[in-house]
Amino acid sequence: MIASLGLESQVILVTGGNRGIGAAIVNLLLELGAKVAYTYRHDYTPQMGTVAISADVTDEANMIAVAAQVEAELGPIDGVVANVGITQDNFFPKLTSADWDAVMNTNLKGVYNTLKPIIPQMYARRSGSVVCITSISGEKGNLGQTNYAASKAGTIGFTKSLALEAARYNVRANAVAPGFIETDMLKPISEKVKQKILAEIPLSRFGKPEEVAWTVAFLLSPVASSYITGTVVRVNGAHHT
Ligand code: NDP
Repeated sequence: MIASLGLESQVILVTGGNRGIGAAIVNLLLELGAKVAYTYRHDYTPQMGTVAISADVTDEANMIAVAAQVEAELGPIDGVVANVGITQDNFFPKLTSADWDAVMNTNLKGVYNTLKPIIPQMYARRSGSVVCITSISGEKGNLGQTNYAASKAGTIGFTKSLALEAARYNVRANAVAPGFIETDMLKPISEKVKQKILAEIPLSRFGKPEEVAWTVAFLLSPVASSYITGTVVRVNGAHHT
């Protein structure tokens, strides 16, 4: 018998699956045989074998419709990856209330909006796995990211609490905390700052989206991670241990 993560034919929803880490997760899950649905806002890149849905995670009604569409087209949802996240960085004195609200609404309320319509169905079926993408910034803090770090620390608290509540229904919830990963999110960082950050990373390089995707697939797996819930898995090259 060939070993498998057991994701074949599992229905998995990934938010923000059109680029970056989300796209790497979508691609890997497809390779692993899952039935994948993903959300996008602007940059729709057609993906064979997926259900792609235009949706904004800050819109509660939108995310209720997403869950309904995935169930109608693919069947009951076995796994969710709450991946969407944005930065609007500034040092705290210069941070505006709009910066604060945009990041909180997307990164934290977005997780609520994504999961609210799905969790009760998972409880009813006594099965499911939730993976929330947090960040190294949510654990160790980062200059210019008071809003982002707060949203990502909030995601960790949310995930741990959900794991406690969900365990009796055989539903698992875990968080993945990437360090600095080569996606569009790193584009605003100057070369000088990037070199400074690299010097702090023991593996001496930034991570790749695929390296986060494998961790997510592991945590979604009903075979490989069935006794893992309420954890934060770091994918950061020992940048924070
Ligand atoms: P990208 O900037 O490459 O992609 C962000 C994704 O989120 C896009 O698909 C984007 O859609 C989507 N998105 C943003 N806002 C919304 C919204 N309101 N509603 C729906 N979709 C939205 O980010 P990454 O791939 O780098 O990041 C993915 C996750 O990983 C995020 O949660 C991020 O915080 C986290 N992370 C990333 C790190 C990194 O170094 N890259 C480090 C640590 C954590 P669209 O293309 O339509 O805008």
